[in-house]
Amino acid sequence: MKQKVLVIGSSNTDMVVKTEHFPKPGETVLGGTFLMNPGGKGANQAVAAARLGADVRFVAKTGNDIFGKQAREGFRKEGIDISFMTETAELASGIALITVNAQGQNEIVVASGANMDLHPADIPELAFENAGLALLQLEIPRETVRWALQQCAGRNIRTVLNPAPGAPLGPGFLDGLYLITPNETETELITGITVDSEEALERAAQHLLGSGVQNVIITLGSRGIYLASEHFTGMIAAPVVEAVDTTAAGDVFNGALLKALADEAPLEEACRFACTAAAISVTRMGAQSSAPFLHELHSYNE
Ligand code: ATP
Repeated sequence: MKQKVLVIGSSNTDMVVKTEHFPKPGETVLGGTFLMNPGGKGANQAVAAARLGADVRFVAKTGNDIFGKQAREGFRKEGIDISFMTETAELASGIALITVNAQGQNEIVVASGANMDLHPADIPELAFENAGLALLQLEIPRETVRWALQQCAGRNIRTVLNPAPGAPLGPGFLDGLYLITPNETETELITGITVDSEEALERAAQHLLGSGVQNVIITLGSRGIYLASEHFTGMIAAPVVEAVDTTAAGDVFNGALLKALADEAPLEEACRFACTAAAISVTRMGAQSSAPFLHELHSYNE
C-alpha cells in the first residue's frame, strides 16, 4: 500500500549570478549568466519524492508575489498537492541570492520571508489527514516544527526530521521521532561529537537514539551513510559516480527515502534506494532540477 507523504517546510527561489570574482564591500562587478531556480529544502524534498512517484502533500507559506505564484505553478506541474499552502501579503516569498565565482565557490544570502511566518495556525488539522509519513526540516520556525511533530505523533504518522540547517535542538525535540537524517556538520552541532571515524559515528548515533529517536541516518557525502536501526547498524556505501554538482544531494536523499518508506520498504532497502537517487542527482547541475525520475533509477539498476 502506498502511503501519503506530508512535507512541511520552506519554499525559496534561488537567484544565481555567475561572476569572475566576488565584489568587495562597495564594489560593483558585472556578472555573467543569471539563473532563477526553485529551491528551499522543503520544496526540494517534496519535488524529489514526487518525481519518484510518491503521493506528496506540501505545506508551506509564500508571499503574495510572482515568486510564490511561480513556485506554486512548479509544484502543480510536479503533481504535488498544495491545497494547504498559504500566502501572506505582509512578507515576500523566500529567496536566496547566490553568487558563484570562477572557481565555483558560492556566497549565499537567504531572505526567509514568508517561510519564517509559517505558524501552527496556518496548518489546519485536515492537512494531516491520510498521511502515513511526514518529513520536516528547520527552515521554518522551530515551534512550528515541534508542533507539527507532536500533531503527527498523535495521529500515528511516522515522522522524519532532516535537521538542516544545523542547530542544537532543545530537550524533548527528538522524542518519539521515527528517524533523523543529519549530515556530518549537523550531527556535530546536535551531539557535540565530531564524526571523524566509524567509532565516532556510532557514538553520535547512540547519543541521538538516547534522545528518543527510533532510527538514525548520518549522511556522509560521497561515502554514503551511516545507519543505526533495529535491524542494521553500519555504513552503506554510495554508488561511485562522477559528481559535477552536489547541491541538494541531501534533499534528494531525503525525498527518495520517504518515497521508499511510503511504499513500505524496510529502512535499509529505502536507504539504498535513496543513495542511488542522490548519486544520480550529483551527476548533473542544479538543485531541484537535478532530482531524478523513477525510470532513471530503474535503468540505473539494470
Ligand atoms: P547538500 O547540503 O549538498 O544538500 P548534505 O550535506 O545535506 O548535502 P551529503 O551528506 O553531502 O548531504 O549528501 C547526502 C547524500 O547524497 C549522501 O549520503 C550520499 O548518499 C549522496 N551523495 C552526496 N555526494 C555524493 C557523491 N559525490 N557521490 C555519490 N553520492 C553522493
